[in-house]
Amino acid sequence: MSVLLRSGLGPLCAVARAAIPFIWRGKYFSSGNEPAENPVTPMLRHLMYKIKSTGPITVAEYMKEVLTNPAKGYYVYRDMLGEKGDFITSPEISQIFGELLGIWFISEWMATGKSTAFQLVELGPGRGTLVGDILRVFTQLGSVLKNCDISVHLVEVSQKLSEIQALTLTKEKVPLERNAGSPVYMKGVTKSGIPISWYRDLHDVPKGYSFYLAHEFFDVLPVHKFQVSDKLRFVLAPSATPAEAFIQHDETRDHVEVCPDAGVIIEELSQRIALTGGAALVADYGHDGTKTDTFRGFCDHKLHDVLIAPGTADLTADVDFSYLRRMAQGKVASLGPIKQHTFLKNMGIDVRLKVLLDKSNEPSVRQQLLQGYDMLMNPKKMGERFNFFALLPHQRLQGGRYQRNARQSKPFASVVAGFSELAWQ
Ligand code: SAH
Repeated sequence: MSVLLRSGLGPLCAVARAAIPFIWRGKYFSSGNEPAENPVTPMLRHLMYKIKSTGPITVAEYMKEVLTNPAKGYYVYRDMLGEKGDFITSPEISQIFGELLGIWFISEWMATGKSTAFQLVELGPGRGTLVGDILRVFTQLGSVLKNCDISVHLVEVSQKLSEIQALTLTKEKVPLERNAGSPVYMKGVTKSGIPISWYRDLHDVPKGYSFYLAHEFFDVLPVHKFQVSDKLRFVLAPSATPAEAFIQHDETRDHVEVCPDAGVIIEELSQRIALTGGAALVADYGHDGTKTDTFRGFCDHKLHDVLIAPGTADLTADVDFSYLRRMAQGKVASLGPIKQHTFLKNMGIDVRLKVLLDKSNEPSVRQQLLQGYDMLMNPKKMGERFNFFALLPHQRLQGGRYQRNARQSKPFASVVAGFSELAWQ
């Protein structure tokens, strides 16, 4: 048993990434209050008609419309990531991030008996950079995975981003099959020959032994807000609303955000993992049921008032991991949340950085690798703001026998990489 990444990953070289620093969305704690112009965007016009004709809408409905309305939603027709966009994410900062997540999935696959097939399912894949880095690791470790049938499934509502993902992952070498009306709206083959399909909803992804990944996905799902104060920015509902069922009876905070859509997705993931095995890895900024007002907007790498010029800025709220844990309880085991710097350290980021630095003579590439490392790991930057959280079958942590979908039925280790130090079985 060794703790090395170097052997399998040696030939990988540095891949160009965005120049740093840019803003990452986890940076701020409260809604932006800067005075700003409020141009009448098509989305604002749409919301004003809607509110005038059918009455006030909840914050959750506002967030859902602004982000994912099929005609005018912020996510639907633009690439908001990177230098020219509104914010930056870890996979866009450093290739090492995705590589270590690739190792995490392989480590889980090995620890649970090397199934003959698995699906890699990503929720909200952005530009496809993260899954691209993961697939590169799968190719590098081809000798380990050689008898395993892998397929990739992307859950994405954005037309624009799905096109960018297709370009990144397939280079359209094999013409993509497109059918906008079907639940599988696009299909193709990745550069390394793996079948890849696109869906708008997790429910449409085939059930089967899967590894799920959600990076900066849960934070864009619509939240309901509850406030016990007279200093309001939003209008308080005059009486109880059905969403109040989501609040804990012993809740003590005077301002609470709840994301029922996240609960629905976690329940679906938990049922699937309990039924067919696999794991889910959720990485996001968030808290463990302690924070209050985290709803905020980002535009052009700046904090943006959430009510100004809707449709032009990203809207996001911190993920409440205590809620995700409650939704998984009884069906699967959960681990975390643990801080990003601890997770990546356990996954061997230092060894990986050294390999890439040793391989590169180019000062600008070395500087980019070091800056990327600092951005991901520095506790004052993303290191402490971002968390990792995993869902696993109960048997995975009990050290029992794992038989479903597995070629071998030997007992598997109960240590889960990332949440403790990576150790190849
Ligand atoms: N995971 C990527 C992108 C994060 S941005 C990264 O870390 O770089 C959020 C992503 O989720 C975008 O791809 C956006 O289009 C997608 N998205 C937002 N709401 C969604 C929904 N309801 N269903 C599926 N995808 C959604």
